[in-house]
Amino acid sequence: MYCRNCGNDVSEKAVMCVACGTPPKAGDKYCDNCKAETTSNAEICMKCGVSLRGGRGIQGEGKDWLTTLLLCFFLGFLGVHRFYTGHTAIGVVQLLTLGGCGIWTLVDFIIIIVGNFKDAKGNLLVKR
Ligand SMILES: [Zn+2]
Ligand SMILES: [Zn+2]
Repeated sequence: MYCRNCGNDVSEKAVMCVACGTPPKAGDKYCDNCKAETTSNAEICMKCGVSLRGGRGIQGEGKDWLTTLLLCFFLGFLGVHRFYTGHTAIGVVQLLTLGGCGIWTLVDFIIIIVGNFKDAKGNLLVKR
């Protein structure tokens, strides 16, 4: 596949592009299947037709954004939003530390609001 940030040819299992140092799937400039240039909001590659979202071609797998936000707001100190999104280990830690005395929960809450929170599979939360 090709690095989505710089278009460099990287191995299928690469976690970091040797040319630019970012995870190959982190960028949005190039198709990771055929190296065609894409626009940042393109859903599929115009050239080869593969999905450019999620890396596996499966849509709609992300957890619900609003549900996660509400869980974090009301039950975040118990790590419930982490359990919901599949981060079980972190959820347990937050449960035991009461959300890192609330600070961790607050940080998570902000990340959810700005839309950067990912579930355990690496999918962004879905705003329906
Ligand atoms: Zn790169
Ligand atoms: Zn392509």
